[in-house]
Amino acid sequence: MMKLDLHIHSTASDGTYSPGKIAKESSNRGLSFFSITDHDTVAAYDAPFPNDTAGTLIPGVELSAEFSGGTLHILGYGIDPFEENLRKNLEELQSFRLERNKKMIEGMEELGFDISLEELLNEAGGELVGRPHFSALMLKKGYVETRQEAFDKYLKKGAPLYIDKKRLLPEDAIALIKGAGGLAVFAHPFQTNLLGNDLRELAGDLASKGLSGVEAFYSSHTEKEIGFCLEIAKDLGLLVTAGSDFHGDIKPDIPLGMIAPSKLLKPFIESVGCRLPGGLS
Ligand code: AMP
Ligand code: ZN
Ligand code: FE
Ligand code: FE
Repeated sequence: MMKLDLHIHSTASDGTYSPGKIAKESSNRGLSFFSITDHDTVAAYDAPFPNDTAGTLIPGVELSAEFSGGTLHILGYGIDPFEENLRKNLEELQSFRLERNKKMIEGMEELGFDISLEELLNEAGGELVGRPHFSALMLKKGYVETRQEAFDKYLKKGAPLYIDKKRLLPEDAIALIKGAGGLAVFAHPFQTNLLGNDLRELAGDLASKGLSGVEAFYSSHTEKEIGFCLEIAKDLGLLVTAGSDFHGDIKPDIPLGMIAPSKLLKPFIESVGCRLPGGLS
């Protein structure tokens, strides 16, 4: 078995740990590999990382893709975070997000909530403001009693303050990752709300568009769900990854780090250009 975490959010998106703190915590927990995979941004990689981490950092990103029904996220690994086309596309998504945030602030004003963009940026601790930051501030200011209430009453899809965000087409997300030298991986497949053959078909379709792997080991996965992902990976010749989707204190039930069989992770680790540490097989 090996300890690793290939799905971590930092303050560069909606996580509460800075990239440096994640590196330190990954070391403390003895992770052999870790990847910061922020939503639609690679800003976590702008500043140099401490080079005394015990594990190897694999540069990553998590792209939201257009999908009707549930949620479709594509993880990218081994990307060059400075690749021009990737940067340009992510910047476009960010400027759309800024416009969306301004509209949501106007919507809040109409509801009598006093929340400014400055306060949201401060709450976010980085440039990317998302709905979790809105919910945190609404709680702090006493407009709601829990973060979940903020989502249920105001922020969830279909609620008064909800505005959809701009997303890439799945094939464009995959192409963007590959263009930046990375491997594209199907994140938390069950969040698509598909099961059985429907999920298998979607994975097959993504594989035909250049997908390289599937996130079989994930915080919320049951043994059965892991088994199903491993089966899909085997049938389609996809690599297998393991990630927690750690967000720090905003999702306190999700700890940093996963434990997965080394032999199942080895093909991915090698494909992304790394080697398993000695003693693991
Ligand atoms: P955004 O990128 O601004 O649309 O925010 C997306 C994030 O909001 C997700 O990563 C979740 O953490 C959170 N979120 C979305 N829907 C809900 C919900 N119904 N209840 C609680 N949190 C949610
Ligand atoms: Zn998130
Ligand atoms: Fe995700
Ligand atoms: Fe995530």
